[in-house]
Amino acid sequence: MNKSDSERIVEVLEKMGYQEASKENEADLILVNMCSVRQSAVDRVYGLAQKFKKLRTFNPKLRTVLTGCISKRDFLKFKNFFDFILPIKTLNFWPEILKKEKFHFLPDQREKNFIEKFGCQYLKIKPKYEKNFSVFIPISTGCNNFCSFCIVPFVRGPLICRDHKEILKEAKEAIENGAKEIWLLGQNVNDYHSPSDPSINFAKLLKMVNEIDGDFWLRFTSPHPKNFSDELIETMAKCQKVTPYLNLPVQSGDDEILKRMNRGYTVKEYKNLVKKIRKDFKKYRKGLEKEIAISTDVIVGFPGETERQFQNTVKLFKEIKFDMAYIAQYSPRPGTVAEKMKDDVPKKEKEKRWKVLTEILKETALKKNKKFIGKEIVVLPEEYKNGFLIGKCRHYKTVKFKGESNLIGNFVKVKITNALPWGLTGC
Ligand code: SF4
Repeated sequence: MNKSDSERIVEVLEKMGYQEASKENEADLILVNMCSVRQSAVDRVYGLAQKFKKLRTFNPKLRTVLTGCISKRDFLKFKNFFDFILPIKTLNFWPEILKKEKFHFLPDQREKNFIEKFGCQYLKIKPKYEKNFSVFIPISTGCNNFCSFCIVPFVRGPLICRDHKEILKEAKEAIENGAKEIWLLGQNVNDYHSPSDPSINFAKLLKMVNEIDGDFWLRFTSPHPKNFSDELIETMAKCQKVTPYLNLPVQSGDDEILKRMNRGYTVKEYKNLVKKIRKDFKKYRKGLEKEIAISTDVIVGFPGETERQFQNTVKLFKEIKFDMAYIAQYSPRPGTVAEKMKDDVPKKEKEKRWKVLTEILKETALKKNKKFIGKEIVVLPEEYKNGFLIGKCRHYKTVKFKGESNLIGNFVKVKITNALPWGLTGC
């Protein structure tokens, strides 16, 4: 989401006459779009204080701006070394605000007045996409879920949805301009309802984007297992532009931990959901697409997680056989409910649990990837390095193959010759 926000920030700054500087010491303005989900990202921003001091000795006119997800606690400290602190939702007003010498503004994004004044108006700004062939389109911002470990509802405010007509317009224009991959973005996409017509939920929106003319792939992130409807499952499986890949965050394989995380589902419900999704893809897709790739997000060492509770996550990993998993070692986020819980799983133990899950994942991912050997699949290359192209296939697996850089951003047929746990190689 922050990446997508940055594309709108670039558009606003360029309209104001700014150009990208090639070096930090040549910049008149440095903008930091911050993420608060992990402490390591916040620490990196703290680390900038010294750098700014040094840069100011070269250029006393340097101005610094901080935006993104900022907690109240961090705001009070960052005020000392950023000239401007601005919520992203105020982006439409930046050309005016940046005329001032300094401005620090961090209201509670859940306040009624703030929501009424700013809402998600900034999403109307036409973004300057980083890559025209792979485009992120936000469908909503914020979240109402309050998972106990997560800071998003505090720093991004409540869920606010974009009008479906605006989303369709942006998607159509992107496809006409050569987009091959559309990502619909939201902190919790399956809570989506169009403000002008609440009968248009996420499943209906997905179907509408799928119906846009053109040869493109349709992806989305992130869904919540709690309210993943049968309608959405069937729509995903039936809409052929929707790629056979889903990131479905489970967070834990233990019911007691899930409850304390305030996730709103049980392990059994999660497993049933995966079963249904796999069943519908088998029913409505052909060939390799009959098997959907499923990845997950999981936290190890959540406060109070016992060995037995962790073993339930191990069991779930063995049972579901994920294609990929983003495994995080728990660290408390200021202002969340979980921050008040005792962070009592030692760091060493968290690392051990991370390793156990990673080993299981390596095995299951490799087994899944081996099924691609000998098959010809379509890849969208994004990067060129030393004679090789690197990109993703429809199952969102990384594929490396020999090729020329002019193929970046085009669909390319690749024959898979080898499989590794974290990717495929081909020719
Ligand atoms: Fe955070 Fe996602 Fe939970 Fe919302 S649903 S609170 S964004 S983890």
